[in-house]
Amino acid sequence: ARLPSHTPLLLLALTPLTFRLEEKPLREANDGEIVVKIEYFSNDPAQRTWIGKDVVPDRAYGPCPNEGDSMPSLVLGRVVQTKSSQWKEGDLVTAFASWSEYVVLNEKAVMAARQIEGCSPSVALSALGMTTMTAYTGLHEVGHIKPEHTIVISGAAGATGGAAVQIAKNIVGCKRVIGIAGGAEKCRWVESLGADVCVDYKSSSFEEDLIKATEGYVDVYFDNVSGRILDLVLARMKRFSRIIACGAISGYNTSREMRMHNLFEIISMRITMQGFIVSDFADKWPGAVDAVKKAIEEKRFTTEGTETKVAASFEDVPKVWARLFSGGNQGKLVTDVSA
Ligand code: NDP
Repeated sequence: ARLPSHTPLLLLALTPLTFRLEEKPLREANDGEIVVKIEYFSNDPAQRTWIGKDVVPDRAYGPCPNEGDSMPSLVLGRVVQTKSSQWKEGDLVTAFASWSEYVVLNEKAVMAARQIEGCSPSVALSALGMTTMTAYTGLHEVGHIKPEHTIVISGAAGATGGAAVQIAKNIVGCKRVIGIAGGAEKCRWVESLGADVCVDYKSSSFEEDLIKATEGYVDVYFDNVSGRILDLVLARMKRFSRIIACGAISGYNTSREMRMHNLFEIISMRITMQGFIVSDFADKWPGAVDAVKKAIEEKRFTTEGTETKVAASFEDVPKVWARLFSGGNQGKLVTDVSA
């Protein structure tokens, strides 16, 4: 029988229907507390790993909300009521809170939002935010990168990956930095950040392009995506090389099962692969902020294009977040609910 060229399939997909909007009473601040009005939400792929039927809280690294809980999120907001001697009304703070318009927080649970003159306040979530800390500490504390290294960075047009490209090339001065991103336009942007070359994983010639880009093989791989890309990069690693296992976004919305062909390379090439969470290196963040701020002043680290800011109504916050999983962002995806 003649088969149709396409068949309909129903795929598991994140939709805004995963969330529902509800109103709950907002209480006044007690002693030692502040009330914050949230202006910007940080959108983080990791949030996806905290929700879902297959999540085992003991094996996760986040707060894993139960059904009916507000979705946990990094936020940037303004103090609108204070019963704290540490914070005054109008202060701009970052905190780990949730998808909520207002939040009551302990005075110790917030940080002053890091700012750069001339930049939007949301720079506290992007160039000076958690993802840049992730790139910086991952490269240094896990990857032990050095100027003589050749390094591959996947998710290179995203928040963490884009910062990693700039730090590796423009702060550390790595010999060769190879980005991997989805689409020609994103790849050209990654090259404008300093990558020697960026390879498009959505191109039909990706495998050949990756081999060509990594001719001399790779000392350090900063992995933001896992899956097929990790599998292919494994076969390009040098003996005694290192893999910084930062994220696995290619699997967050699909089955955790991955068909790996090149795992034996870890043994034959004596590769060290180490996972990490940015909070493991909280003591290194002040040094990272100083280094990035200095590089910004010296024009070795650009904030230009490192943020995709989407103005949205509060109901649309989940819709904006879902853009992470279809590549709908360049640099940090920030939701602006300040209007
Ligand atoms: P990004 O800004 O990188 O946004 C996500 C990007 O991932 C998208 O723009 C898209 O870019 C890419 N992507 C989406 N689906 C796939 C896929 N199937 N295959 C390959 N790429 C895909 O997000 P973050 O910088 O916040 O996070 C990047 C990674 O780092 C995530 O895996 C996250 O979980 C991890 N992370 C880990 C931390 C830690 O402490 N270990 C802290 C922060 C982040 P494209 O268009 O190129 O496909």
